[in-house]
Amino acid sequence: MVYIAGEEMTHYATELFVDQWIKPYFDISTWETYDLSCKSRDVTDDKVLHDAVEAGARIGAIFKEPTITPSTVQVKEMGLSKAFGSPNGAMRKGWNGITISRDTIHIKGIELGYKNQVLFERHAVGGEYGAGYNEVGAGTLLTTYLPDDNSPPFVVDKRDLTDDNNVVVVYHNPYDNVKELAHIFFGRCLEHKVTPYIVTKKTVFKWQEGFWSTMKEIFEKDYKDTFLKEGLLERSGNELTHLISDAATMQLIRWTDGGFGMAAHNYDGDMLTDQIAQVHRSPGFITSNLVGKSDDGSLIKEFEASHGTVSDLWNDHLAGKETSLNPLGLVEAMIGAMQHAAMLDVEKHPDDASKLEVKMKVLNFTETLREAMHNTFRYGQGTRDMSGPSGFSTEDFIGKVAWRLNR
Ligand code: NAD
Repeated sequence: MVYIAGEEMTHYATELFVDQWIKPYFDISTWETYDLSCKSRDVTDDKVLHDAVEAGARIGAIFKEPTITPSTVQVKEMGLSKAFGSPNGAMRKGWNGITISRDTIHIKGIELGYKNQVLFERHAVGGEYGAGYNEVGAGTLLTTYLPDDNSPPFVVDKRDLTDDNNVVVVYHNPYDNVKELAHIFFGRCLEHKVTPYIVTKKTVFKWQEGFWSTMKEIFEKDYKDTFLKEGLLERSGNELTHLISDAATMQLIRWTDGGFGMAAHNYDGDMLTDQIAQVHRSPGFITSNLVGKSDDGSLIKEFEASHGTVSDLWNDHLAGKETSLNPLGLVEAMIGAMQHAAMLDVEKHPDDASKLEVKMKVLNFTETLREAMHNTFRYGQGTRDMSGPSGFSTEDFIGKVAWRLNR
């Protein structure tokens, strides 16, 4: 599989748990590692990002640590030659990103924010993230469309700008892969037995209608009967229900029983999943998986935690203070990547029994690892976001799980 290294606290913690939890049991020498720290991107003039994207497309199973997208202050502090952009955009593009799936993590016997699972599907491309913009004065703004098939161009939008100071923004939502997103979302909702909701702001943002209508069309055609049979639409009036994004933000706080899934555009998904992370106690209890597609049709999956590099704890660590990082999101990402890599290897070599044997070993080991972590939480030896001030430090938690694995 591909291992993308980042920096700060999450890099430190990941190195610790790979050393203590994985290396004693697995030969990881075939992992392809790419260092996406700012320094490494600078030294290679970002070739390393290009290489990582190529490797991900070739191999199809990727683990990624959180990375820093440097601010102007950080560019100076780290002595970088320029303000490197977010690597995530290049990855979503390079791997034909369809969706970023973000789910709550649960530990049996422990109540976190949501009692039952919450799934989220965030459209991985388009919207504000890919916007073009400029600062302009008074004048007229024309947005003109030039079709590829040489049919006549037309003006999509014309507006008169009367202020002396404006920022103008153009973006688009590429909708070709929304059908695939729908299949991934409804399939996952069925697998986890939760009620699906589609979230947009289409009442005001009229251009978002297509997202809802495509999701609805796929649902009615391929999924409705099964959802009805399974009784999964009872809470939504036996129909697929649309939620305005404002309503969704409120329901996420009220529906703490969980048991539902939401699919949304890119930016709404970004915000709403941060809210889910807070309701569910900590960003450490949420997964984040980018699902894309390779040219041969197999799924490329990149697994990461939903949080950042946890700079505040890193600064504490550098200052010699004790820290307590919850590694669950990172480890679920590692587990996901290891399992997907093993599964792809079996798919690519259907006649090679040794690949199946490796897959079974990976499944066995990753289940044992998950159990060792959950037991550590269950025995009150969790990190402080979960167990309060008496919880374990970053190093002690990792050490305790290593001890449990070794018994
Ligand atoms: P963050 O997610 O790293 O931290 C936000 C807050 O949540 C902090 O108080 C942190 O201590 C806490 N927190 C997060 N995860 C935790 C965990 N597992 N255990 C315990 N506490 C946890 O976000 P930030 O501080 O805004 O960003 C730090 C850096 O991460 C920035 O440079 C940003 O660019 C980067 N970032 C990267 C990604 C990514 O690579 N996908 C995503 C978000 C932010």
